[in-house]
Amino acid sequence: MSAGRGRLGGGALSSGGAPSSPVASSPVGARLADLEISRAWLVDPASEREGPGEIVVEDGILVAVTWLEGAEAVGIDATSVVVAPGLVDLHAHLREPGNEDAETVATGLAAAAHGGFTTVCAMPNTDPAADDPAVVVRMRDAAAASGSPVELLVHGAVTMARGGEQLARLGELADIGVVGFSDDGSPVRSATIFRNALTYAGMLGLPILDHPEDGSQTEGAEANEGLVATVLGLRGWPVAAEAVAVARDLAILAEVVREVAGARLHLTHVSTAASLDLVRRAKADGLPVTCDVTPHHLALSDEWVAGARRFAWAALASDGSARDPWRDEAIVAAPYDPSTRVNPPLRSAMDAAACRTALRDGTADAIATDHAPHTDVDKVVEFGLAANGISGIETALGLTLAAVDAGEFSLPTAIRALTSGPAAVLGGRTAARGLVEGAPADLVVFDRSATWRVDAEAFASKGKNTPLLGMELPGRVLLTVAGGRIAYEAPDA
Ligand SMILES: [Zn+2]
Repeated sequence: MSAGRGRLGGGALSSGGAPSSPVASSPVGARLADLEISRAWLVDPASEREGPGEIVVEDGILVAVTWLEGAEAVGIDATSVVVAPGLVDLHAHLREPGNEDAETVATGLAAAAHGGFTTVCAMPNTDPAADDPAVVVRMRDAAAASGSPVELLVHGAVTMARGGEQLARLGELADIGVVGFSDDGSPVRSATIFRNALTYAGMLGLPILDHPEDGSQTEGAEANEGLVATVLGLRGWPVAAEAVAVARDLAILAEVVREVAGARLHLTHVSTAASLDLVRRAKADGLPVTCDVTPHHLALSDEWVAGARRFAWAALASDGSARDPWRDEAIVAAPYDPSTRVNPPLRSAMDAAACRTALRDGTADAIATDHAPHTDVDKVVEFGLAANGISGIETALGLTLAAVDAGEFSLPTAIRALTSGPAAVLGGRTAARGLVEGAPADLVVFDRSATWRVDAEAFASKGKNTPLLGMELPGRVLLTVAGGRIAYEAPDA
């Protein structure tokens, strides 16, 4: 790589000694011919190990993983350059077909690579919805045409046009290789249809990814029900709207699994302590349920809607309650910023803390980005009219590492939730994540101690909608390698 020895913590990145780097001149999609990363901090979820080490890639294959000890390891720590398996996103909105102004498969995969992801699951709420194998083929064709080596996986719709009334052709979608079913953006409202979907998907060996929201409680809702929504005069979005939906799904799962052993439920973007407690108990009871939390729900809180810009852990009082951002003089930006509008809404600091606890204790299996790019036409409007969502796939690692820096959970916990955790939810439909010799290199390399400023112009995503613009985040991605091929390389790495 073009990085000079010594610039990145003692020559952590170096390219096999060739006089002109084979990597720096290689375009996205090219096979990674030759790379040696010495004196790095390796994080390997497969062996549940982290520590000083070296890796060597030859002709796209990870040929050597060496753990260093004793004198060789001196001076290498978790603030050095980190090498981890490529990240896996269970939940991203790539907007193609139908809303290519907001994102395309090509820009979405480029954004994923910039964020360190090597596998991305596209949600089916496209237009038309991915309720038909032809739509899935179209998305795959777009991925192939993009030249990106990032692996695109697709979730099929649960119901036709995500209308909630008639099951999609789950069997045909399974035959073509979708990795799950979801009507995300909406829950599956009818309990009967949800039950049928869980049954059929279970027979096909695939999970249902439900967006847990009881719509009868969220009609017109704008912000998490609580102090912030009250002060700002925004219509409240109750915690119970999520918990009721989670409870329903779990009750139905408990019955379906008695008939169909393969039935599996994945609850996506779980955002509240109440819902996570329900999942925790269901797991203890042995139900086949998994869930994810998003980077924004674990790191941000509802006071961002009021204009606060401190992380959620800094918004907690010593007794564990949420602080009052006005009393704290924590408000630094204008209120009603539509980039803070998201479904589910940014929750209280206590709920954000519960998301982090769930990662620590294994209740949450994964961190999923819910990457939701929007055009300015849909997003830079009055708060109550703004589309829900944050363009988040390029800031997911940084937000997660900010939580690590704050001591909220460990680096291996973070990496597991971004790699082997989501890969397990996909049940073998993507490669298991680990630093495994002899396998195609599938890696993210990031500078743990370098911070970077979130800049809309630097986003590969077309979606510039994030409240993080201008903030400094830790962990700059230097290199993303997917399936032995270059997916992203930092310009100056
Ligand atoms: Zn959703």
